[in-house]
Amino acid sequence: MTNNTTVKTATPWKNWSGLQHSNPSQFIQPINIAQLSEAIRQAKKCRVVGAGHSFSPLVCTNDTLISLDSLTGLVRHNDTLNQSTLRAGTRLKHFGPLLDPINQALLNQGDIDEQSLAGAVSTGTHGTGTDLQCLSGFVEGFQLVTANGETLECNAAQNRVIFEAGRVALGSFGVLSEITMQNQPRYRLKEQIKLTPLKDILSHMDQWKTKHRHIECMVFVHASDAILKTLDLSTEDIQSLPKPWPSDDALLTLCSEIARNAPRLNPYIQKLLGVFVKPTTRVDWSSVIFPSVRETRFNEMEYQIPAERGLECLAEIVETLRNHKAPVFFPIEYRYVKADEIWLSPFYQQDSASISIHQYHKQDCREIFRLVEPIFWKYGGRPHWGKMHTLGAAELKALYPRWNDFLALRQELDPQDKWINPHLHSLFFG
Ligand SMILES: Cc1cc2nc3c(=O)[nH]c(=O)nc-3n(C[C@H](O)[C@H](O)[C@H](O)COP(=O)(O)OP(=O)(O)OC[C@H]3O[C@@H](n4cnc5c(N)ncnc54)[C@H](O)[C@@H]3O)c2cc1C
Repeated sequence: MTNNTTVKTATPWKNWSGLQHSNPSQFIQPINIAQLSEAIRQAKKCRVVGAGHSFSPLVCTNDTLISLDSLTGLVRHNDTLNQSTLRAGTRLKHFGPLLDPINQALLNQGDIDEQSLAGAVSTGTHGTGTDLQCLSGFVEGFQLVTANGETLECNAAQNRVIFEAGRVALGSFGVLSEITMQNQPRYRLKEQIKLTPLKDILSHMDQWKTKHRHIECMVFVHASDAILKTLDLSTEDIQSLPKPWPSDDALLTLCSEIARNAPRLNPYIQKLLGVFVKPTTRVDWSSVIFPSVRETRFNEMEYQIPAERGLECLAEIVETLRNHKAPVFFPIEYRYVKADEIWLSPFYQQDSASISIHQYHKQDCREIFRLVEPIFWKYGGRPHWGKMHTLGAAELKALYPRWNDFLALRQELDPQDKWINPHLHSLFFG
């Protein structure tokens, strides 16, 4: 390997929640595209890691693991089109500082901004908003380093088919080294948070969902109220909130510990929600408003349900978990995502309601996921690739009309299956 490339041997790797781990035989962090190509050429099998924030074992490998943590930053931008090209290892949390000076901002973001751009794009990471696609839908082009170390520019004009499919490819086409994003001029959002009876959400969300640029709710299984959050464009002055003490995240850790150690208290603490959640309003730049602090570790399952059946599915999940007195404190998150045309996007040609179930990392998540996953299936849900699910090739094929086209294109790009680890094997061939 060339000078300055970081190569560490036998470095154990684990994901953010700690559930997924593996022992890569070598860990490579190239500092330029030539080194990246060389590392790929030399590897027999390899995976690429972003920030390791996926809950599913997408990244696990006992062979070569490549990180783009040294390939970050803004490459170029187009003021007229509001587009910017970034090195693919750039973390979303650096988009604010990088894009503010050029008056651009991402069109939407999810709950946190710790992910790398390529990692977030490769799994169809999303925020909420009936008119807004997942991050992969805002990709205008990318540079791909393939299994033989070749570099391809992919966009609507060059390598169009690879561009269409490769925006959600789970690192199975090669390594994305640069990504061009469609952005919009920097904007401010007004965030409003309040407790709302779950029964009102279930009966009115269908009307509310189009009245706000972003809407989501957090449903505590054993409480009658849920947290409703809306975000809308604003021209008002910045209004920040004093940092609460204890922080929301510290409270979440405390409640999760109580619920784990004294499960009988769980419904009672959930009913105290009103003591801790007061209505709040704040206004700030989008890159400040979107991300939340998530330090309490958890594992997560999430499915995308056809939007018109989302609330019905949510109601059934809540009822099932209540009936089973499920030992879960973490709320269920309910969001909306607009359809796209990306072959393996969970939102492929389907406006979706996104429903996520979380379990505190010290508790067995499989117990509640086993209760909930068949409900997702019943409503025709497609799993989030970065979160936990138990589907294999046969079931996935039935959910994705372009499944065979994707696999055929993938095989062309990677005839030796360089990018296939056991998890991808079970997804694609198992
Ligand atoms: C606390 C928390 C909050 C989250 N919130 C949300 C949310 O609001 N919305 C949502 O949709 N998801 C959310 N997620 C899931 C997360 O966004 C996805 O799993 C995302 O893929 C993680 O990005 P990463 O950079 O950590 O990628 P990793 O998990 O490291 O990798 C993800 C996939 O991308 C591939 N990949 C990484 N880099 C490259 C590259 N350069 N080229 C090609 N492939 C590459 C990897 O091989 C892997 O297949 C959350 C996860 C956590 C832990």
